[in-house]
Amino acid sequence: MRDQFSVIFVFLIIALGGCSIAALQSKRTIGSTVAVFTAAITPPIIGNLIIVRAGTSLPATIGYYIYFLGMDLMIWTMLKFVMEYCNYKWKKSVLRCILEIFLAADIFQYGFDIFFHQAFTTEPIQVDGYSYYRLVPRFGQTFHRAVVYGILFVILIMLLIKTLHSSRIYSERYSVIFGTLVLAALWQTFYIFSRTPVDRSMIGFGVFGLLIFYFALYYRPMRLLDRMLANIASEMPEALFFFDSGDKCIWANTPAQVLTDVTEETFDKAAERLNSKFGECTGKPDNWFSGIVIGEDDDAEYYVIENHHITDDKGKFAGSFLTVRDNTTEQRKLKREMYNATHDRLTGLYTKEYLYQRINELLHDEPEVKRYILSLNVRNFKVVNDIFSTEFGDKVLVFLAERIRAELSDNSLFGRLGGDIFGACVPADEFDIERFERKLSKFRVADINIDYNILIHVGLCEITDIDTDIAVLFDRAHLAIQTIKDDYHKHIAVYDDKMRQKVLWDQQISTQLADALKDGQMRPYLQAIVDTNGKIVGAEALARWIHPTEGFLSPDRFIPVLEKNSMIVELDRFMWKSACEILSRWQKEGWDLFLSVNISPKDFYFMDVAAEIKELVDKYGVDPTHLRIEITETIMMTDVESKMKTLGELRNAGFIVEMDDFGSGYSSLNLLKDMPVDVLKIDMKFLSRTEDVLRAHTIVRNIINLSDDLGISALTEGVETENQYHILSEMGCRMFQGFYFSKPVPVSEFEALCRSGITPE
Ligand code: C2E
Ligand code: CA
Ligand code: CA
Repeated sequence: MRDQFSVIFVFLIIALGGCSIAALQSKRTIGSTVAVFTAAITPPIIGNLIIVRAGTSLPATIGYYIYFLGMDLMIWTMLKFVMEYCNYKWKKSVLRCILEIFLAADIFQYGFDIFFHQAFTTEPIQVDGYSYYRLVPRFGQTFHRAVVYGILFVILIMLLIKTLHSSRIYSERYSVIFGTLVLAALWQTFYIFSRTPVDRSMIGFGVFGLLIFYFALYYRPMRLLDRMLANIASEMPEALFFFDSGDKCIWANTPAQVLTDVTEETFDKAAERLNSKFGECTGKPDNWFSGIVIGEDDDAEYYVIENHHITDDKGKFAGSFLTVRDNTTEQRKLKREMYNATHDRLTGLYTKEYLYQRINELLHDEPEVKRYILSLNVRNFKVVNDIFSTEFGDKVLVFLAERIRAELSDNSLFGRLGGDIFGACVPADEFDIERFERKLSKFRVADINIDYNILIHVGLCEITDIDTDIAVLFDRAHLAIQTIKDDYHKHIAVYDDKMRQKVLWDQQISTQLADALKDGQMRPYLQAIVDTNGKIVGAEALARWIHPTEGFLSPDRFIPVLEKNSMIVELDRFMWKSACEILSRWQKEGWDLFLSVNISPKDFYFMDVAAEIKELVDKYGVDPTHLRIEITETIMMTDVESKMKTLGELRNAGFIVEMDDFGSGYSSLNLLKDMPVDVLKIDMKFLSRTEDVLRAHTIVRNIINLSDDLGISALTEGVETENQYHILSEMGCRMFQGFYFSKPVPVSEFEALCRSGITPE
C-alpha cells in the first residue's frame, strides 16, 4: 500500500513538474502563474511522500513540516492564480493582504512548533506491517486548517461568482474549476476527519493542479463554439454549401436549399443544380471566386461565388465549402446610381461630364479613326420657353434630342452639354455635313395657336490631336457657331485655325486698349469734308491704333471687337475728348471748322451721352455747333424714346446730329421724318455694289430731294471720283467726304492740307 501511494505521489510530482515547465513556455499571460501554482502543489506531495516512506519519527515530522508549509505555499499560489484567472485585481486587493497575514502567522507558528509542539505530534502505528507516523493534531493545527479552509472558501466564492455572472460559453471554464476544487476540498476534509492511516488528500489537489493546467492554457469550449458556428452558418444570408472530399454536398444552409431547391434528403443534387444554374462552379481550387451575371439589362441577376478548401491537421484536403451571394439588389442600385449620374434627367442623353469622359476613352481606344466634335445650339430657345411654356420647351428639347440622335450614326456619342446645347462626337466618314445641314433646317414646333421655326446652329471641329482637352474641342466648336450666329440660312460652321487666331487677337486687343489710350498709341485721324466749291468745311475724326508690335491698325481690326465687349465706350470717350482739344486749338487760331465724332450704340447703354458731351465742350470751351454727332440707324432699334430724348437734348444745346451710313442698313424713309437729325450721311459704298448705275443715281437723287423737303441737309460719303462729285453736286448735295478729296490723315497733315490749298480763309 505505501508503495502504491509512493508511485502515485511520484507520478503526480513528475506530472506537475512537467506541467509547470510547459506552462512557463506558454505564450499566454497566465502561463507563469499556472507554472508557479502547479509547481507549488509539489511540496505538499513531496511531504506526503516522505511521510509515507519514513521509518522513524524524525523524517516523518520533517515530512509533516514540508506538507503543511507546502500547503500554505500552495494555497497562496492558488489564490493568486484564481484571482488572475477570474480577472480580480491581485495587486490592490485588501482581502489578499489580510489572507496573507494569516498565512504568515501560520508559517510562523510552525517555527514555534519545533520547540513547543503546539501544532502537532506524531504517533507510530502499524500499517500493512510497516510503521507509519500518524498525525496527532493540536490547537496550532486547528489554526492551520482554519487558515487553509478560510482561503479555500474565499477562492470558491470567487469562482462561484464568476460562474454565475459570465456568459454561457465562458461560465464553463469557471464552473469546471469550481467543481474540481470542491471535490478536492471534500476529499481533503474526508481524510482529515476519517483519520485513515495515509493522508490521500493531496491526490485531489494534484489532480486539481493538472486540470488547472489544462483549463487555463488549452481548454476552449469547443462544443459551444461548434454550435454557434453552425447557427451563424444557417442564418447567413448567403447560400452556403459544404462538400466532402469527393465533392458531394453534405450540408446546405436554408438560403442554399432555397437557391438549389434541395432538402436534407436531396443534398446530393445540389452540386448538379449549382453547375447548371451558374456554370461549372463546384470542385474548384481553393479561394476560387467568380462573378456571374444571369439575364440581361434590367432583368439581369448578379451573383458572386466563392470556393474554399478545408484541410485536416496534416494539411490534407478534407472537403470544401462554397458560398453564393446574390448581389442583384446592390448591383441594380449601383447601376441606377451610375445611370443617374451620367445621364441627363430630361432627355436621357449623356451628361456633359460623362460625354467628355466617353469621348476621351473612345479617342484613345481608336486613335486611327478621324472624328468630328459637334456642338449643336438651339438658337433663341428662350423664345420657345417664353411664347409657349417651360414644359413645352422641355418637350421640344426631348423631341430635338431624338431627331438629332436619329441623324447620327451608331458609332457616334451624343449628349446634352446643358440648357439648349447638345454635343456629339461623330466618325468623319459616317457624317455627311450637307445632309445634316439640310435635315436641321426643317425643325418646326407648333401647338394649337402658334407655329414656330426652330433654328439649330452647329459648330464642327475636326479632332487633329486626341490629347487635346475635350472641353477645348467643344470650345472651338462653339466658337465656330459664333461666326454664323446671326445667319438664318447657314446651319453649320466649321472651325478653322483662323477662328482661334481671331479669338486670341480679340483678347489681345481688349487687354491692351487701356494702355493704348494712355500711351498715345490710339490717335484721331481726320478725313476732310468739303462743300460744293471743294473747300474744307470740317472733318470726321476716325480712330487709328499705332500698335507697338502690329503697326498701323485700321478700325475694322479693333472696332468690332470693342463693340462686342462694350469697350468701345472707352475709345469713344477718348475720341470725343481728342476732338474737343483739336477744336479748342482751332478756335484759338480762328479756324471755323467742325469735327464729326462717331457714337456707338453701346455708348447709350453705358453712359449719359448728352451729359458727357456737354460737359466736354464746356470744359474745352468749344462751340457746340463745331462738334457734330454721328449716329447710326441701329441705335433706333431699341429704346427709341430715351434716345430721341438724348438727341433732342443735344440739338437743343446746339450740336448738329448726323445720321451716318444712311442707305446701308435697314434704312427706312418712314423713320426719317420723326428723327431728330440735321444731316443725312449717304453711304456711296452701297451704291457701288449695284450694277444698274442709273437706278442707283435715281435712289440717291430721291433721298437728297426728300431730305431737302424735310429740311435735312445731305452729305455724301465715299466719294472716290471727280465724276461722282459732279453728279452729286448736280443732284443738290451740298457736302462731300471721300478719298477723292482726302483719305483720313493725322491731325498735323490735315492742318497742313487746310493751309496749303483748299483751306478756308
Ligand atoms: P464710318 O463712320 O462710316 O467712317 C467712314 C469710313 O469710310 C472710314 O473708314 C473711311 O476711311 C472710309 N472712307 C472714307 N472715304 C472713302 C472712300 O472714298 N472710299 C472708301 N472705300 N472708303 C472711304 P475707317 O476709318 O476704316 O472706319 C471704319 C468705321 O469704323 C467707321 O465707319 C466707323 O463706323 C468706325 N469708327 C472709326 N473710328 C471710330 C470711332 O472713333 N468710334 C466709333 N464708334 N466708330 C469708329
Ligand atoms: Ca462715321
Ligand atoms: Ca459712314
